[in-house]
Amino acid sequence: MRALVAGGAGFLGAHLCDRLLQKGYHVTAVDNLSTGFLENIASLENHNNFQFIRHDICSSLHLEVDEIYNLACPASPVHYQSDPLQTLRTNIMGSMNLLELAKENGAKIMQASTSEVYGDPLVHPQKELYWGNVNPMGQRSCYDEGKRCAETFFYEYHKQKNVDIRVVRVFNTYGPKMHPNDGRVISNFIIQALRNAPLTVYGKGLQTRSFCYVDDLIRGIMAFNDLQETCDFPVNLGNPEEFTVLELAQFIIELTNSRSKIVFCPLPQDDPQKRRPDISLAKKILGWQPIVPLKEGLLRTISYFDTELSYAQPNVVV
Ligand code: NAD
Ligand code: UDP
Repeated sequence: MRALVAGGAGFLGAHLCDRLLQKGYHVTAVDNLSTGFLENIASLENHNNFQFIRHDICSSLHLEVDEIYNLACPASPVHYQSDPLQTLRTNIMGSMNLLELAKENGAKIMQASTSEVYGDPLVHPQKELYWGNVNPMGQRSCYDEGKRCAETFFYEYHKQKNVDIRVVRVFNTYGPKMHPNDGRVISNFIIQALRNAPLTVYGKGLQTRSFCYVDDLIRGIMAFNDLQETCDFPVNLGNPEEFTVLELAQFIIELTNSRSKIVFCPLPQDDPQKRRPDISLAKKILGWQPIVPLKEGLLRTISYFDTELSYAQPNVVV
């Protein structure tokens, strides 16, 4: 089987490439390296079944492929807000280009959608049937609306052009290969704690998130892909254990034995107040649920960042 992983040099994409190679796939990773890094896939470079193509999915691409995984899009709010038009283009034109490629090849295609399609949810936990509460003109809208539009493209390509689709709504996922400058909460807090620097809690830290370890997520993606029948509906993948951001900060200080204090910084606009996936659909149709507890996942991630920081990168700013 030949798989194309768009966004293959990013955090999740690199883990997915690795897993697909282990399963015997021929893997082509496509990435414009805007937030991804070749270091993430350095260990795959000499693999006979792996190739990397530097390419922006906003331009069309033509190659022979059996499965496509679209993970190309910055996921960190700091990154996707740095060029909102590019975020929109990536989600809309990029998704359309990959759907066209799927149609040309009769390939199966998966979209990495997001819990952000629920916006700042008024329903808790979030089930797939919830329509969401999204601000169409806030600073998160380029991502939220871009991802919602991408989903619609997927459903319509399935309905009108019979493309075999999978749409997975990914909730906050963390682990090794997140970039130290990524700006997301777990990478920020771990690096700050390892440096005994203050942990920057936004707002009062009472907003909640549910954190899924990367291996669990990739296992869920593979199980969804393996489902025989095409799916014209989205599936949530995430860990339903919910924590406040303040609890997370305290936990990371404890696990790193850090001397860090906590500082409170302004809460960004439209920051969702609560987030937790309802994963009953994934449990029912995939037999999937996360198995890595937060403590274990954090310890593995701390160990990864500890090694990364020991290569001394004075330019890592969080
Ligand atoms: P990431 O930023 O580490 O990876 C995204 C990759 O896409 C990067 O390598 C980047 O260079 C590449 N990319 C961006 N725009 C591109 C373009 N136009 N053409 C080609 N490549 C492009 O982020 P991630 O955490 O690995 O997220 C991967 C996917 O999963 C994203 O689509 C994201 O929206 C989705 N997702 C992730 C999470 C999470 O918690 N990690 C949560 C929800 C959804
Ligand atoms: N956050 C924080 N300090 C940081 C980075 C993030 O308090 O240094 C908060 C952020 O306001 C949000 C949560 O942590 O409430 C998760 O942020 P992240 O950027 O990881 O992802 P989001 O779920 O907001 O897309």
